[in-house]
Amino acid sequence: MFLVRLVYASTVSEHFQSSDIENILSFAKQNNARNGVSGMLCFNHKYFLQCLEGSRAKVNDTYNLIARDPRHNNIVLLDYQTITKREFSGWSMGYVPASVLALDITFNYSTSNDFNPYEMSGESAYQMLLTLRTTVPAI
Ligand code: FAD
Repeated sequence: MFLVRLVYASTVSEHFQSSDIENILSFAKQNNARNGVSGMLCFNHKYFLQCLEGSRAKVNDTYNLIARDPRHNNIVLLDYQTITKREFSGWSMGYVPASVLALDITFNYSTSNDFNPYEMSGESAYQMLLTLRTTVPAI
């Protein structure tokens, strides 16, 4: 089974509570580690941008679970491709918080300073995640 990478954007829904982010991360870290899935999640209290990498079967299963989650909506697939190696192997789910997304870094990959993953190409979103890796402690 070969490796794939998936990148999507979504928006918080009315079912999301501020305490949910801790629960989502803690569940994701355990479940992803069990399934050999690695990746990164960005969240600015309005939008999510997430990258998942791992076997095609496990990444697809994980994405299907996530897509059914009522805590977010307007889920848009930005990128899905086979890859030769992982770039987030140190993170079962690394987290990039709003404070980091507010820095100038977003401007390098989109048309404005505001973090809005719907206005980014899949490649720009992925390249930004690669840059943001350096800010996230490995888990
Ligand atoms: P169950 O606990 O049986 O959930 C049943 C249903 O309720 C599911 O639709 C679930 O999404 C939903 N649900 C669970 N908790 C709540 C709650 N507090 N409020 C409202 N609805 C709830 N999971 C991963 O394994 N890996 C990831 O990388 C990952 N990333 C995520 C990123 C985002 C932005 C979000 C919103 C969720 C993410 N999740 C991730 C969590 C995932 O969506 C599921 O909640 C989790 O996998 C458990 O689903 P389940 O059906 O097995 O569990």
